[in-house]
Amino acid sequence: MRIHNFSAGTAVLPDFVYNKTADANRDYNKTGLSLLETSHRSVVFADILTEAEALLRELKSIPQEYTVLFLADGASQHFAQIPLNLLNNDTEASYLDSGVWASKAINEARLDGKVNVVASGKDDEYRSIPTDFYIPEDNTHFHYTSNNTINGTTLLVVPKTSVPVICDMSTDILSSEIDVTKFGMIYASEQKNAGVAGVSIIIIRNDILDKVNRNIPNISNYAIPADNKPLYITSQVFAIYATSLNLKWLKSQGGVPAIEKRNIEKSGLLYKEIDRNSLFTGRVSNISQRSRMNVTFLPNNPEHEQEFLDFAAERKVVVIKQYADYGGFRASLYNALPIESAKTLIAVMQEYENHKKLNA
Ligand SMILES: *Cc1c(COP(=O)(O)O)cnc(C)c1O
Repeated sequence: MRIHNFSAGTAVLPDFVYNKTADANRDYNKTGLSLLETSHRSVVFADILTEAEALLRELKSIPQEYTVLFLADGASQHFAQIPLNLLNNDTEASYLDSGVWASKAINEARLDGKVNVVASGKDDEYRSIPTDFYIPEDNTHFHYTSNNTINGTTLLVVPKTSVPVICDMSTDILSSEIDVTKFGMIYASEQKNAGVAGVSIIIIRNDILDKVNRNIPNISNYAIPADNKPLYITSQVFAIYATSLNLKWLKSQGGVPAIEKRNIEKSGLLYKEIDRNSLFTGRVSNISQRSRMNVTFLPNNPEHEQEFLDFAAERKVVVIKQYADYGGFRASLYNALPIESAKTLIAVMQEYENHKKLNA
């Protein structure tokens, strides 16, 4: 039995991806070349990219007026790049502060223009996401994080506004059905719920590509890769292949509607155990905003924290320690995490509770 990997990112992938990438590493599709030595300008890669884009468009029902890019970077790059493209000293953008990653995006945007933080969950230690706020209609864009990886909160409803909505979906892209047409731009690091590290997925409405009104570096201008497709910078051939495989796997599982059902079930089982178990408490204060992707919970007795981490690791349940300065636990239940892994974690929590009772 493999280890149950609850890492928030880089994260677990389907066996299908491990097996196919292992083959591609030795000899890609009988080309006689490893994919690691295959040029981003080759026909082989052009086909991989075409397939990855087609799968993503199909799985997310992306209309033609949106450009899809697989860029050689991570979501953090776009915290800086989005305001570079859309904001300047004379304009203002609205941002929702829902957690650590959202705050980073805000700090980067402040380097380029005025930032209107419409609301912040900081006073509640980001245990909930404020939903009552106003977005001025003359703003360049509204930015929010749909799933807060560290705090374990999620906003399933897209805030209504007439300005372009830009969303960091790094940890919930492809986890539930969404209407792409509600967004000006969606971006995500691949290594959480879509593939491996080193690539971000960008879905951007074409009219947003023309909004740059000052000199910015070519490498930061979305219009350049949109025109050249991936060729402005050497593409992450292997990582994009891994993503393409992951998308293919998702399609074979019934696509987004089917995986959403499973995600609801998987996270529901774990939340049920957290609420039942006398040793743990869920961290999120607004129950309706509990994330299906990153489940955060605390030990009722702080002394149990390391003990439970060790207890779980002995049973092959790993990487459930919460992010750096935050206490407690976080179990990430991305698409690729088998429901058996979630059930194993639940069984370990029950075993731990019994173990503490016996030793009380
Ligand atoms: C991990 C993460 C990021 C940062 O991703 P990098 O690939 O490290 O740049 C940004 N936003 C969210 C919501 C994340 O979970």
